[in-house]
Amino acid sequence: MAREAIYQQSNPDPGGDPPEDGPPSEKGVADGGEEPDRGPDPDVTLRPQRMAEMVGQQDVIERLRIAIDAAQVRGEPLGHILFDGPPGLGKTTFATVIPSEMKTTVQMANGAGLKAPRDLLPYLTNVSRGSVLFIDEIHRVPRAIEEYLYTAMEDFRIDIVLGEGVNARTLNLSLEPFTLIGATTRAGMLTAPLRDRFQIREHLGWYTRKELAEIVLRNSKKLNIDVDPTSAGVIADRSRSTPRLANNRLLWVRDYAQSKTKGNVEASVCEAALDMIGIDHLGLDKQDRNYLDTLMRVFLGGPAGLDAIAHTMNVSSDTLEDEVEPFLLRSELLVRTRRGRLATPKAFEHMKRPMPDRPL
Ligand code: ADP
Repeated sequence: MAREAIYQQSNPDPGGDPPEDGPPSEKGVADGGEEPDRGPDPDVTLRPQRMAEMVGQQDVIERLRIAIDAAQVRGEPLGHILFDGPPGLGKTTFATVIPSEMKTTVQMANGAGLKAPRDLLPYLTNVSRGSVLFIDEIHRVPRAIEEYLYTAMEDFRIDIVLGEGVNARTLNLSLEPFTLIGATTRAGMLTAPLRDRFQIREHLGWYTRKELAEIVLRNSKKLNIDVDPTSAGVIADRSRSTPRLANNRLLWVRDYAQSKTKGNVEASVCEAALDMIGIDHLGLDKQDRNYLDTLMRVFLGGPAGLDAIAHTMNVSSDTLEDEVEPFLLRSELLVRTRRGRLATPKAFEHMKRPMPDRPL
């Protein structure tokens, strides 16, 4: 039987201390290595363990299967892989299932937690032949560390200077051949030399309604709740094409149903549960609607500058640009023009507001 992947997790807290020298602590998922008193993390419970359990991304899965098969036939480590795409679409899941398929181990690090070259050492000295090192948010790895990754990835070697001045000495380490899997939500922020060192680059796209409904149905079984396909469709519709949100919505529906309807889940229960936390039938949350409301009420639908909208809402413009606008743009509720942000007729209809007389 396949040996399950062993997980080693870095401290993902960007403000946290860098990991101490020495190997990061081992986290055995396969042997129930979760801390006993915290209860299972739903993200871990619901995360597929094998590629066959994943829904959607079929073209990505097909290409990865070929690469994995070929590496196994040759008895070589898999080439380095870069995943990019918005949060919650399965980058970490791929980084979890690939080592399982390769029957190897994985160490997990976060780019934000790697502050100095020495922070890389415990991970690199811990790699075994063919094992996987996963670096999430790899665009946040500082440039000084990135340069060490180049030789590690290309020549499986790292030359590190320890100490300063007369005490400085160079440590030349040769590493076991390994696979680096990087994940990023901002592929554009990666430097070309780093990007080019990944042999396989995959972009993860949005999930269809059907795929999300399938994920909801599968996960409802894992959670031991009875969800029918219509209810799964309601949750899928309100999940912004994103599996992580589908899972979160499902977990909330479960809580709601347990508290209000003796655990009975049906479409109207899902609607009521999600309405209660401000998620409407297009998947917009309170902040999205607040944005549209401000744009329509204060700026008559626009065009309005991002900063002006942000000041009126008392929210930072970065938050609006990164977290609110992408979904509104994708849903065709908002357009970005040279003169500013403009609400579309669909947005007025959704917000049940009359369109102002204006040239579009
Ligand atoms: P990312 O790393 O891109 O932010 P994750 O891999 O953490 O996203 O995905 C979030 C959750 O969504 C996972 O815990 C998993 O339950 C679910 N998920 C993601 N992709 C899939 C998929 N293809 N099939 C089934 N569930 C998925």
